[in-house]
Amino acid sequence: MNFNIDTLVRDNIKKMSPYSSARHEFSGEASIYLDANENSFGSPLSTATGIEGPQYNRYPDPLQNALKEKISRIKGVPPQHIFLGNGSDEAIDLLFRIFCEPGKDNVLLFPPTYGMYKVAAETNDVAIKEIPLLPDFQLDLESIEAAIDEHTKLIFICSPNNPTGNSIDRNDIELLLNNFNGLVVIDEAYINYSRQKTWIQELTEYPNLVILQTLSKAWGLAGLRLGMAFAGEPVIGYMNKVKYPYNINTASQQLAMEALENISGVNNWTKTTVQQREWLANELTQIPFIQTIYPSDANFLLVKMEQASNVYAHLAAKGIIVRDRSSVILCNDCLRITIGTPEENLQLVAALNVYQS
Ligand SMILES: *Cc1c(COP(=O)(O)O)cnc(C)c1O
Repeated sequence: MNFNIDTLVRDNIKKMSPYSSARHEFSGEASIYLDANENSFGSPLSTATGIEGPQYNRYPDPLQNALKEKISRIKGVPPQHIFLGNGSDEAIDLLFRIFCEPGKDNVLLFPPTYGMYKVAAETNDVAIKEIPLLPDFQLDLESIEAAIDEHTKLIFICSPNNPTGNSIDRNDIELLLNNFNGLVVIDEAYINYSRQKTWIQELTEYPNLVILQTLSKAWGLAGLRLGMAFAGEPVIGYMNKVKYPYNINTASQQLAMEALENISGVNNWTKTTVQQREWLANELTQIPFIQTIYPSDANFLLVKMEQASNVYAHLAAKGIIVRDRSSVILCNDCLRITIGTPEENLQLVAALNVYQS
């Protein structure tokens, strides 16, 4: 690998001066703040509750330092290697805007996979080279090698992969990290449920590695919108340069700080979800119209069956919504089923057992 951030970044991004907010120019402690045109009296929120809480009349910390400190301790990654976004989706979009020249550069995607990579590519007018996964849902390395050209900037690998649920072979990812001069983005949204370990430990070895994680899945905070990117300092530096100055609002920062104090509950849910995944997989094998339950390292199962769309409608009529992936490449007649609570999973199995084609 011959990684050079300067040849990778778009020229306009290299040259631009970032927005400099009041909170960037003065970040110490003072007694009177008259620098940001805020409302110095307070906010309706603080008046209403009467309790000392976050000061919503003030702009939030643009770099979320306190929250990053906490995440740093949990993940074992120094804060300067962490970017926080309004969901992982913000990080994904930023990577396109920083590294991909519209109408000129391209990225590699391996369908079936998470839909947002494609949406971000199309929004940014960046060409997509799609190389479908092999029938065992692993990377097609030969075709990948053939597809890479001088304008290929990003490779997105989702592991565990959504919607197939499997982890991508470590050796295959390593091969790409060692040979690709652009960025290899590994989306680990489901890593907490996986038998495989995170790539975070490899950050020091690969300057072209970007890891995405999120508080939306195992952490149970999809509503807060907090995504994390871990990468080398040059990449994180550019993400901070281009992001909206106050991309994570005060409430999200504050609530995430609180949530990260409650790790044991989250770990218990994760354990139960993994047990339920194995239980559900076993139950599903006994249902006659179900053909394949793919092995999963995530909090969902991809399940192939006769007439998946009819089964979907049957479940929906009973008030149970799953994801119909029938129209997705390599997923015909597949439903993607999220692992619910034990009670929800029982109801799902009961509903499937009364299905008649
Ligand atoms: C759910 C999911 C995410 C999470 O996105 P957020 O914007 O952080 O909620 C990211 N990647 C994949 C593959 C997902 O399935």
